[in-house]
Amino acid sequence: MQILALDIAGTPFRWLDIERAITYAACGKVAWEVGGDEFVFHGGTRRDGERSVVSLRPVIALAKSEAMVRYLQPLPLGHDNMLLFRRDRETCAYCGERFEYRALTRDHIVPKARGGRDTWTNVVTACRYCNMRKACRTPEEAHMPLLYVPYEPCRFEHFILTGRRILADQMEYLAARLPRHSRLMLHRCLHTPE
Ligand SMILES: [Zn+2]
Repeated sequence: MQILALDIAGTPFRWLDIERAITYAACGKVAWEVGGDEFVFHGGTRRDGERSVVSLRPVIALAKSEAMVRYLQPLPLGHDNMLLFRRDRETCAYCGERFEYRALTRDHIVPKARGGRDTWTNVVTACRYCNMRKACRTPEEAHMPLLYVPYEPCRFEHFILTGRRILADQMEYLAARLPRHSRLMLHRCLHTPE
């Protein structure tokens, strides 16, 4: 399980593992929290003999985090293809079929050999067959028009793409803030790998 950490203004900041989230809570760094479910954790024994208890909700905003988001790096595409395939819903941009991860590849719209860059807007998910057929050509040259337009995920989309086993309260928080055009809104039930 992971806890979604926000900055004080409600912008997603980081997925926290439980130990880290408990540390924040135990140090009084949780400014406010969201979610119906509450998780209770028992810690070590205190000096008075009582065991310490920390309770956490699925979404927490960290105190004194006003400036955190300003220092965040642009959201990386990553070297493995998981985020890309999830953005594109495991669907080939050229034939429109859905495939398992192992049958999919990262296609550079403008091929790398011709100066195309490894950026969110120059890559799409393609099945092995379509990628081979397109070869070192642009979609126009190959007469293989793109069936969807690649885009750079916004911060809320990025957290949906990178979360593992996202809890209902967390998904609700993120999904409510997605832009209308988001492709992640097409299906309520998002596939998240175990
Ligand atoms: Zn294909």
